[in-house]
Amino acid sequence: MSLGGVGRIAICGYRRILASHLPHVQRITLQFSRQMSTEMQSVASRLQSSGLLRTQGLIGGKWTNAYDGKTLEVNNPATGEIIAEVACMGRKETNDAISSAFDAYKSWSKLTAAERSKRLRKWYDLLMAHQEELGQLITLEQGKPLKEAMGEVGYGASFIEFFAEEAKRVYGDIIPPTLPDRRLFVLKQPVGVVGAITPWNFPLAMITRKVGPALACGCTVVIKPSELTPLTALAAAELALQAGIPPGAVNVVMGNAPDIGDALLASPQVRKITFTGSTAVGKKLMAGAAGTVKRVSLELGGNAPCIVFDDADLDVAIKGTLAAKFRNSGQTCVCANRVLVQEGIYDKFADAFSKAVQNLKVGDGFREGVVQGPLINEAAVNKVETFLQDAVSKGAKVLLGGKRHSLGMTFYEPTIISDVNSEMLLSREEVFGPVAPLLRFKTEEEAIHMANDTNAGLAAYIFTNNVQRTWRVSEALEYGLVGVNEGIISTEVAPFGGIKQSGLGREGSKYGMDEYLEIKYVCLGDMNRN
Ligand code: NAP
Repeated sequence: MSLGGVGRIAICGYRRILASHLPHVQRITLQFSRQMSTEMQSVASRLQSSGLLRTQGLIGGKWTNAYDGKTLEVNNPATGEIIAEVACMGRKETNDAISSAFDAYKSWSKLTAAERSKRLRKWYDLLMAHQEELGQLITLEQGKPLKEAMGEVGYGASFIEFFAEEAKRVYGDIIPPTLPDRRLFVLKQPVGVVGAITPWNFPLAMITRKVGPALACGCTVVIKPSELTPLTALAAAELALQAGIPPGAVNVVMGNAPDIGDALLASPQVRKITFTGSTAVGKKLMAGAAGTVKRVSLELGGNAPCIVFDDADLDVAIKGTLAAKFRNSGQTCVCANRVLVQEGIYDKFADAFSKAVQNLKVGDGFREGVVQGPLINEAAVNKVETFLQDAVSKGAKVLLGGKRHSLGMTFYEPTIISDVNSEMLLSREEVFGPVAPLLRFKTEEEAIHMANDTNAGLAAYIFTNNVQRTWRVSEALEYGLVGVNEGIISTEVAPFGGIKQSGLGREGSKYGMDEYLEIKYVCLGDMNRN
């Protein structure tokens, strides 16, 4: 099994469940830990007074505890402190959330597109009005630097704005008939209730990229955020309610992932599963969806090559590779996982890249100037260490970093490792951490072969000043996204998604709507009768 899920799959939902049936878990406000630092307490208090700190699930518009009273802790990865105890839900709560979504679907899908659009737009406005608080929440539970977290809020909200507009553009078709007394129409209708399962690395954007188009089309949703980062999802859901998105149209359950996943898969009322996460879990969900023949969209793991040709502008290549590799501490599905450098520029690139990387400031995401936060948890650091040991034992050389950061916790030094080859784990699987492996190549043909030599096919990057090469290589790369002389390419207006084992379907852009629409053909006969 891939380590994409940082080893949590088997124990998900159980490890951090607290004692159940205790009166204190019935309280609906945030439970502050006694160990919480003064600094974190002040951020948490600000968040609480904004009304965005929610710890219960959302079912049918009601904030709800787990039925058996169980909770799970949400930790700050930078400090290990407990931020909150949230409801730890399972099968029963999920079934009720599905029923609520099913009921709400009847009215939400009947609203005019203009009315749905208005409420989505209001949700966008509220998300942006609370950009700072939401950013703080993301930094608290996920660890990315505050500036980057605020950027995620803008990016996440942009999907709601974009799909508020697209809601009004769901056109059907009229087909010229083959018989004179017939008229043929094509209608596009919402799929129905959608189960949306999302990861921890973008606690807001991975949700809005699914829920925006789903609601725009007239679908209703049951969201299952990661147990590691549920607070952002709950805050976003609170703002959806405030925006007038009706009770039951957006539900949130979190806790025991396999139980929640099984309930979503088993229900015939859920007509679609949309998942972002590891390839291993994606495959399980795809198999499980077969039982009720649900539609499935999957945004899975990547193994992005970043190809630097001899003719690249060195500064552009350094800046682009830096962004593609070290954003979110290397914990994105589109992070450069292998840096392929042509032999003529290899030494110059390695030298300049090392100088740039050693300037990256590591620390708590709330600290000024920090550009690299902690990894999400201990399992993630263990994975990085295993991959590094494997590479070094097979002849790779550490140019920079290569160990845990002196800050302790789950901080890891920004790392560059050279002489990596295709036999090493670093080349075969996503490292999901701040490690840039350098691989050397001679020809364009060899680079394309190395880049495509993987089951993944999400993002790829090339750096070159040769226009013909840009086209040739972009066409030859077996990837869903290609960045040319640019390391950050995601935007709400362009289609995002992978090929091969990186997934099915596209999110964002006008194509993102198709994932939530069914096509219905209507044949009108007997037209010649008066
Ligand atoms: P993960 O372990 O697969 O978890 C993703 C989600 O699935 C979480 O909500 C998790 O819940 C849930 N889950 C786990 N086991 C489940 C089960 N048996 N049934 C139903 N749900 C289950 O992945 P992750 O570690 O959170 O995220 C990292 C992975 O996501 C990487 O591989 C990355 O490349 C990929 N990713 C892909 C994209 C993309 O757009 N292609 C974007 C971002 C991330 P719990 O967390 O509560 O256990």
